[in-house]
Amino acid sequence: MYLEVKDLTYAYRAGQEAVDHVSMNVEKGEFVGVIGPNGSGKSTLLKCIYRALRPESGSISLCGEDVLSMSYRQSALRMAVVGQEHDIPFDFTVEEIAAMGRSPHKRMFDIDGREDRQIVADALRKLGMEELSGRSFRSLSGGEKQRVLIARALVQESDLLILDEPTNHLDIGYQLQILELVKGLGVTVLAAIHDLNLAALYCDRLYVMKDGKMVLEGRPEEVLTPEEIYRVYGVRSLVERNRMTGKSSITFLPEHIDLQELESGHVA
Ligand code: ADP
Ligand code: MG
Repeated sequence: MYLEVKDLTYAYRAGQEAVDHVSMNVEKGEFVGVIGPNGSGKSTLLKCIYRALRPESGSISLCGEDVLSMSYRQSALRMAVVGQEHDIPFDFTVEEIAAMGRSPHKRMFDIDGREDRQIVADALRKLGMEELSGRSFRSLSGGEKQRVLIARALVQESDLLILDEPTNHLDIGYQLQILELVKGLGVTVLAAIHDLNLAALYCDRLYVMKDGKMVLEGRPEEVLTPEEIYRVYGVRSLVERNRMTGKSSITFLPEHIDLQELESGHVA
């Protein structure tokens, strides 16, 4: 087992568990998605795994090693994180931001060597950002920023890439581009994904959270059924296997659509 989370619990306020006895795992090379309504605990779970929060109880292991007893530097070497917010307090260039991914590998005040610069240049090239390496990070569009942050994560050469809704606030072109890039990297990924159709397209396996609990796990086509979508989100839907992608394709059916009419074929 590559990443194994067992019985993890975290509460921001006593008695209100944002993550409640959650267990899950990720195998090497898998692209695993975490879905669930807003506030269901996805970010909190990821933050416990990448150690922005310390769980009250439970265990996390990566390649058999206990993550919670590693030094922060050790775990930073093993996991790279791309979150939703990418505001940075100072004005760095694209190359400088990407190079920050090398920092867990170095001691304080170490100067970047030729090898580091090569790793940074390779990562920027993979993400199609080498032309912009001298540009101010702040001047980039949302999609470009997200690509630089993925380059930074790659530069880190970690075992696991953790993404928290990496494509939120991006238009559909960039959403697909970012997920396509990540998928093409062939790395092990654990990602909270908001959009169920994107989760169906890119994830090998999905976990579903609701009210801090893990309520379901399986392949996208097992998890994304109208019954489960209704149970978790309270929304009616039509799920079909798309003949082009071979993946589940979900159409949400708002209240004003009469399902009986729909089934009898009388919808205008
Ligand atoms: P998701 O990522 O699925 O939207 P979160 O993990 O962000 O969910 O939130 C889970 C629960 O924890 C929610 O009820 C949310 O309001 C609460 N929560 C999240 N962050 C904080 C915080 N910093 N302080 C207090 N409560 C929080
Ligand atoms: Mg979140």
